[in-house]
Amino acid sequence: MENLVAIVGRPNVGKSTFFNRMLGMRQAIVDDVSGVTRDRQYGSTEWNGKRFHLVDTGGFIGDGEDVFAAAIRKQVRMAIEEAQVVVFMVDVETGITDLDAQVGRLLKEINKPVLLAVNKVDNNERQLMIHEFWAMGFDNLYPISSTSGSGTGDLLDALTDII
Ligand code: GDP
Ligand code: MG
Repeated sequence: MENLVAIVGRPNVGKSTFFNRMLGMRQAIVDDVSGVTRDRQYGSTEWNGKRFHLVDTGGFIGDGEDVFAAAIRKQVRMAIEEAQVVVFMVDVETGITDLDAQVGRLLKEINKPVLLAVNKVDNNERQLMIHEFWAMGFDNLYPISSTSGSGTGDLLDALTDII
């Protein structure tokens, strides 16, 4: 699929909230991709006049550490194979977890642009907490709040510059 953006990250960082917000935008439609299992949700929308597709990979998740790790490997593999750009989502409330670090390492091995979205930055106090995420070693960092929408415009600007 052309112009496909994968939202990758461990459970509970807010991937689906972000996905739903994006699809709530003007002209959002949910793609009917035949043969796609229900563990991936596709949708398309546009920003700055560019149409792009989003995939929310969250449905893989089961219980237990091993399932988490396997699910995340699957997400990343899918991202490598299908997407042009990856939005890697982390959570300012929890800080960097071991799983985040693991996913981050995998994503650095792929030869595709990765936008690090630090979610749940709902207020100024939380803005002060975003700096630790620079340690993950990505070139850029986008503080966003998927519930309020703040910061998502800058992230989408960067995204539509790439695709
Ligand atoms: P997913 O597992 O990554 O898809 O995460 P969800 O979208 O299901 O969100 C997990 C939890 O985080 C839910 O309770 C959301 O309401 C909450 N959440 C998502 N985005 C934000 C945000 O920007 N700020 C806050 N405070 N909570 C959020
Ligand atoms: Mg989800």
